[in-house]
Amino acid sequence: MRLLVTGGLGFIGSHFVRLILKERPEYGIVNLDAMTYAGNPANCADLETDPRYRFAKGNICDRAAVEEAVGDGVDAIVNFAAETHVDRSILNPEDFIRTDVLGTHVLLEVVRKFTIGRFLQVSTDEVYGDVPSGASAEEDALRPRSPYSASKAGGDLQVLAYWATYQAPVLITRGSNTYGPYQYPEKLIPLFITNLIDDQPVPLYGDGKQERDWLHVEDHARGILEVLERGEIGNIYNIGGGNNRTNLEITQLLIRGLNRSADTHVTHVLDREGHDRRYALDSGKTRRLGWKPRVVFENGLRTTIEWYQANESWWRPLRSGEFKDYFSRQYTHRLVIAQ
Ligand code: NAD
Repeated sequence: MRLLVTGGLGFIGSHFVRLILKERPEYGIVNLDAMTYAGNPANCADLETDPRYRFAKGNICDRAAVEEAVGDGVDAIVNFAAETHVDRSILNPEDFIRTDVLGTHVLLEVVRKFTIGRFLQVSTDEVYGDVPSGASAEEDALRPRSPYSASKAGGDLQVLAYWATYQAPVLITRGSNTYGPYQYPEKLIPLFITNLIDDQPVPLYGDGKQERDWLHVEDHARGILEVLERGEIGNIYNIGGGNNRTNLEITQLLIRGLNRSADTHVTHVLDREGHDRRYALDSGKTRRLGWKPRVVFENGLRTTIEWYQANESWWRPLRSGEFKDYFSRQYTHRLVIAQ
């Protein structure tokens, strides 16, 4: 089984690559990644000596690079490559449309040209938009409301169009908010953990009552593998952790886990523009394939805190340079307005 993984130097992609190499001895992997700010070679450094693994630097928008990575052919492509941070999509939507929509289109064209058994598009629950009550099912309408979720929905619609029009052998997974080791420290959980380790306050958007369904990264990777191996072509599969919590609840758990105080370590800042209040997923279809989340949320959060405490050499370099510039563009005015 030859697999082309795109975006495998990122957070979820690197866990997926590690899972495959550990549990599927018959698989070989090419990891195609453009090495954006989020693509970190350190995430896969321990895999480089494995003869079943090969890294190729390249952009999914570049058809020649994708075809070169496919080489003599692959059995499946799993597309993790994307611009993924909602706040950055609000600052600069163009990169998102380029990678998440155009890049997906390029991969689909390659699937059409070569005989590739499966194309799995890794997508997100954010494409369903705000869900005030109940839980999103796969056939629900897409109502994305941020440039990020709109670009991911654009990718999903291209994938489904290639199924309907060309019978391209596609699958889509829609995972919920993911947390765990190796997540770039701009997203809520690693940003707050690393701030708290450094004894800095955490910037909490608005009233903090936005609700997300939290999924451990290893459960997410396993869900994707399950769908890749057992999913029915042309189908969409939701992968939710079943752990709906508000951002305020997450903040309180992290404050407690790191022995800080809410009085001194939480700063309420101006809310994100167009901030969806709630996401929730019905994952019954994926569970019927045999998958279910294994990690108990409180345990997963505790081991994630411990991982960031034990791996400062991984995240400290990431919090300098480009990150500082982004953080200041994203938060400085929000802090001033909030005061
Ligand atoms: P990430 O930001 O950590 O990593 C993205 C990776 O893609 C990086 O290695 C980056 O270098 C690479 N990349 C970006 N643009 C590229 C391009 N044009 N060509 C090749 N490589 C490129 O992302 P993540 O959090 O691991 O998310 C992976 C996928 O899962 C994304 O498609 C995302 O939409 C989806 N997803 C993420 C979450 C989450 O909570 N993180 C939840 C559901 C779905």
